[in-house]
Formats: sequence, C-alpha cells, structure tokens
Amino acid sequence: MLSQPVEWQCRLDRYTSFAIGGPAEAVVKVDLRHELHPLLKYLAGEKIPWRVIGRGTNLLVRDEGFPGVIIVLGKEFAQSTEMVSDKETIVIEAGGACGLAKLSLRCADNGLTGLEFACGIPGTVGGAVIMNAGAGGRDISTVLRSVTVVSPDKEEKILYNDLEFSYRSWDGYARYRRQAVVAMVEFSLQRGDVAEIKERCRMLQEKRKASQPHEYANAGSFFKNPPNDSAGRLIEVSGLKGMSIGGAMVSDRHGNFLVNKGGATAVDVLHLKKVIQERVAKDCGVVLEPEVHFI
Ligand SMILES: Cc1cc2nc3c(=O)[nH]c(=O)nc-3n(C[C@H](O)[C@H](O)[C@H](O)COP(=O)(O)OP(=O)(O)OC[C@H]3O[C@@H](n4cnc5c(N)ncnc54)[C@H](O)[C@@H]3O)c2cc1C
Repeated sequence: MLSQPVEWQCRLDRYTSFAIGGPAEAVVKVDLRHELHPLLKYLAGEKIPWRVIGRGTNLLVRDEGFPGVIIVLGKEFAQSTEMVSDKETIVIEAGGACGLAKLSLRCADNGLTGLEFACGIPGTVGGAVIMNAGAGGRDISTVLRSVTVVSPDKEEKILYNDLEFSYRSWDGYARYRRQAVVAMVEFSLQRGDVAEIKERCRMLQEKRKASQPHEYANAGSFFKNPPNDSAGRLIEVSGLKGMSIGGAMVSDRHGNFLVNKGGATAVDVLHLKKVIQERVAKDCGVVLEPEVHFI
C-alpha cells in the first residue's frame, strides 16, 4: 500500500531536535500525496492511534514513547511552486514537509518579501502552521492564503479568513483533535528588493546566533512569552539559568532554552519545567505555559 517501508519499534529521539523520546510502534513515511488519505482512513478504521510530526523541533516525546503510528511526510510534500496571482502578489504553494527556513531563503533569493522572519526557524511548513511559528514580531499567519488539511474523512482547503490563529497556535486546528495533516499551504508574498530582503534575513540570523545556544540539543523556546514580557527574562530574574536536573539544563545563554546536555530523559525535562513554573510563579506572579508540544 505504501511506497516506503514501515519502521517498527522505532525510537523517536532521532526524530526530535531535543534528541529525547522512546519508541513508537511504527514510523510511517508517506512520500506520495495519494497515499495519505487511505492511510489515515485505515488507521481511523482500525482505531490505531497516530500523530503526524515534522522535523520534531518543537517536540518533547515521552520516555515511554508513543503507542501507535507516527507519520512523517516525504517527497511530494517537500516541494514548493511559485504561482503568479497578479503583478505584485505572488502565491507560493508549499507542501507540509517543506523546510521553512530553506523556503524563506529561496524566496529572498527570488526577491519575494514576507517570509524573512522564518529564515532561521528549523521546522517544516506543516509544523509552522500548527505552531503559528514566528520571530521578530511576525508569524506565519500573516502570510497565509490557505491551508489544505487531510483527515480520515476528507481533504479540505481552508481559506485565510476561516483559519483562526493566536500567538504560537493555530486555534482552528483544535476541531480536528490532532487527527488531520497539514498537507499543503499557500503563502501570499509581495515583490521586493532582493538586497533589502536578504539584509533583513541576515540581521535576524545574526540576532539568533548571538542569543541562542548551539552546543546542545534543544527544542527552541520552551515556554510561550507572557503578554508584554519574555519568558527568558522571567526565568533569568528567578535565578534559574544554568540549573540542571539529570541531563536537562536551563541554558546559561538563553533562559527560555532547556537543553539536553547529553543523556537527558523526558522525565528530567518535565521535572525542570515544573521547577521553573513554580519558581517563576512565586517570584514573578506569572504562570508560564509551554510552547513545546508533548507526545
Ligand atoms: C534552535 C531552534 C530555534 C527555534 N526558533 C523558533 C522561532 O524563532 N520561532 C518559532 O515559532 N519557533 C521556533 N522554534 C520551534 C520550531 O522550530 C517551530 O515551532 C517549528 O515550526 C516546528 O516545526 P516542526 O516541523 O519541527 O514541527 P514538530 O516539532 O515536528 O511538530 C510540532 C507540532 O505540529 C504538529 N505537526 C507537525 N507537522 C504537522 C503536519 N504536517 N500536520 C499536522 N500537524 C503537524 C506535531 O504533531 C506537533 O504537535 C525553534 C526550534 C529550535 C530547535
């Protein structure tokens, strides 16, 4: 039925940027678009739990793993095409498995503006839509035209006005109870000056390089920023930078990055998360909400 072999009892640590996570019963790579809907229908019919992941750059997978099938999108979902809609607006159609940063840099090379904020975000287009990924005050919802979602029941193209986003979340996705795959996305971008676009990308990348830890595995910002403040600042003023539990540590470079110093378990990270939440609530009166998703 599938063009790719299924990997049984596959550890998920190698599918996450945190390098943490126990096994899934199976990891299924879906390369061809026509294979996706029948697979979802089969899994739903057999009542087999499933979840789709992108590059695992915003995920903490539990040590006991996932009791079902993890779906990873492949080849046909990793493509993107440019479609002119009028002289100024260019529509880019991109599959859910497209690398967001690479797409952003390709758009910059082609003089398309709108995706500069994404030039250092290491996930896929599908993951970025679910997360409403963003940086520097912009997020993916600002450049979306439509999202095509495949669920066990149907495939539907949802236009921008019906999508409903908030800070780091596609709220409208809740109605699928995670049982739908972002298969295709349309971005609406503008023509701009190549040198200016590239300069904006360069500046964002420099800022990222200077502020984020690179030496250890991590999943980006662990907590969402509370309104008008930054989680990293609150963690720092609570004196938690550098604190470790087992192999998990609060980065001493950026307070909102929890890193895997080597051999961290999901339990270590969850323990550290709890300590941070309690300390920041006590010291600053703010309850930090995780940005990272848990499987
Ligand atoms: C070093 C570093 C820097 C980062 N910087 C930023 C940043 O500046 N801004 C920012 O917003 N984020 C940042 N992140 C977090 C992360 O890169 C983004 O959230 C990214 O969009 C997640 O994409 P992904 O493909 O890795 O998704 P995953 O982590 O694989 O998944 C995230 C969620 O989306 C779901 N999902 C993934 N793909 C699909 C799909 N096709 N259909 C349906 N559901 C899907 C998963 O089930 C999960 O719930 C950073 C992470 C790292 C490691």
